[in-house]
Amino acid sequence: MSARAVIDSLEFARSGQQLQGAIAVAQLARLTDSLFDTGGNLKFALSGGLDGEHRPRLNLKVEGAINLRCQRCLDSLAYPVEVESSLLVLTGHAGGETAEFDELDGIPADPHTDVRALVEDEVLLAIPIAPRHAEGQCSAAVKTTRDGTTSPFAVLAKLKQQRIEN
Ligand SMILES: [Zn+2]
Repeated sequence: MSARAVIDSLEFARSGQQLQGAIAVAQLARLTDSLFDTGGNLKFALSGGLDGEHRPRLNLKVEGAINLRCQRCLDSLAYPVEVESSLLVLTGHAGGETAEFDELDGIPADPHTDVRALVEDEVLLAIPIAPRHAEGQCSAAVKTTRDGTTSPFAVLAKLKQQRIEN
């Protein structure tokens, strides 16, 4: 596929079209702030269709691996991306149903929907706001207690207790 895939979201859904491809992580500019590096690709699969209530939907699946920046040690944190979402295509002439639509995961019907932006949105929603290595895998973990706060007193208390037990 070309680097810039543009679809008509409503037509895509109504006619049940499908599109698959890969996007370089480096192309997802809004993701850059959260990333340790911009290497790798994300695979995506987009398929259109109608749901049980005959509403047009886009089903989007994104898979791959990105390197986030650990907020504790600022080192690289490998993060598997596996997102699957069902987006309702909002046609705009819903009238009184607008309030109901607000609560749903939806995108506007747009003949120039940028597939890359859709993928980017889904990945942004999926990644943690403050990513951290798991306990024991973070190089900064030795300085913190289990609940994440630095407390030399807790360490001292533990040492004292161990001495008493011995
Ligand atoms: Zn870390």
